[in-house]
Amino acid sequence: MALDSSGVLAKNSTIKEINEGWVIVAQVPFANLRGKDLAAPCALAQAHLLSAAAKSQNIYIMGYCLRPFMPQSWGFAARLGAMMDENQACWGLFQKGYCTRGCACQWQHPQQQAIVRVEFQTVQN
Ligand SMILES: [Zn+2]
Repeated sequence: MALDSSGVLAKNSTIKEINEGWVIVAQVPFANLRGKDLAAPCALAQAHLLSAAAKSQNIYIMGYCLRPFMPQSWGFAARLGAMMDENQACWGLFQKGYCTRGCACQWQHPQQQAIVRVEFQTVQN
């Protein structure tokens, strides 16, 4: 996945598979951090993830309407869920990231979920 195909902010991103999902490590040249924090590369990577999920048939970023990304000191994390049948899906869970019906919910919750961690490393150029 090209987090920043223009190379303006990040370069050399690598993807590692972990038990819960994937870790994407992107190197950001220190000189590119205009505000000296990760806000700009995070916003760019989050926009890429949202558009990739929007193009996908059945992969959703959980809580995409409310709070899709969990900020971390090293970047952010997101939870992906697979929707099996949009007519049976618990849309509240997919859109808000939580379901108020709990165990009593008769709508489909994702059978498979994965975590994507996007970690930024600052490098000298
Ligand atoms: Zn539910």
